[in-house]
Amino acid sequence: MTTIDHRTSDTRSASAAQAEQLAEVISLADYKDRRRLERLTSVREHLATTAAAQRSHGLEEAAETFELLLSVESIISQEFPLPYEHLLTDWAVQDSVAEHPVGEWMPDCTLCRTISRTVPTAGPPDAA
Ligand SMILES: [Zn+2]
Repeated sequence: MTTIDHRTSDTRSASAAQAEQLAEVISLADYKDRRRLERLTSVREHLATTAAAQRSHGLEEAAETFELLLSVESIISQEFPLPYEHLLTDWAVQDSVAEHPVGEWMPDCTLCRTISRTVPTAGPPDAA
């Protein structure tokens, strides 16, 4: 026979276990939010890169791509207002250097790479 009251210990263990489970639930919610923000910013980055390339090559699709970009940014600002404020500054800097002048090749431009690979005799973007 023992003199130790196991109920108290078991109750504490149960509370600790519940607290851990609750923490895991919160972590899962945070994880899902973080993943959604990552996906949205990834889509936003792709659209920004595409719109910059399209503008650099004078393509009409640039306006439609830019509208999609603004829609994604709107979703980010509504769902993640604090990260949005920080991301907005980064995006402004990234977008300002994403375009290239017409008439120049830019190795980072997806359209320049595609044109130079598929039509090796093609000139710089103004000929695209
Ligand atoms: Zn280009």
